[in-house]
Amino acid sequence: MASRLRIGIDFDNTIITYDEVFRAAAKAQGLVDADFAGSKQAVRDTIRRLPDGELAWQRLQGQVYGKGIGGAKMVAGVAPFLRRARAEDCAVVVVSHKTEYGHFDPDHVNLRTAALEWMAGQGLFDGGRGVALAEVYFESTRAEKLKRIAALSLTHFIDDLEEVLTDPGFPPDVERILFAEDTPPAGPYVWCPTWRDIERQVFGGVTS
Ligand SMILES: [Mg+2]
Repeated sequence: MASRLRIGIDFDNTIITYDEVFRAAAKAQGLVDADFAGSKQAVRDTIRRLPDGELAWQRLQGQVYGKGIGGAKMVAGVAPFLRRARAEDCAVVVVSHKTEYGHFDPDHVNLRTAALEWMAGQGLFDGGRGVALAEVYFESTRAEKLKRIAALSLTHFIDDLEEVLTDPGFPPDVERILFAEDTPPAGPYVWCPTWRDIERQVFGGVTS
């Protein structure tokens, strides 16, 4: 019998997407044109080119990850992946590099509480999805996140950031999956542009 898989998943921009929230907030503040249709990355690149753009971008992030999280969406394919993981009796844990408070959030929202509330609202802790509240870890630094991944004896870890997966502190025996739209440089990870690809990579084949 195959040993039980233990799958770790990053949170921001892996499980949750803020693209629409970033676009709406940037438009509301006149930082991008009203017909702007780009992704979070395009919003960032556009704002950073403005005078004092870096500061404006950091302020915008403070709002979006805090108060704006209610408008964020689950990334397509996450729900079926979690159902499959449940059906295959895998353990699923979430490990996120997230400070308690944003640097530039005037509303002083607790980002970790907001993230947990979002997860609960999306039904991630309901039986069929199989993420246990006790298996959600927020870490204040990337080094602590990597330590946590190592301590959890995971078989797989899924993240949208190359720099997490290529960090020398990443445990070498964990299979690394990079969730990214654009072709990344070759690295010690398997690149999957969609959650369907991730499902295929982890379980072989796709059920629905
Ligand atoms: Mg991320």
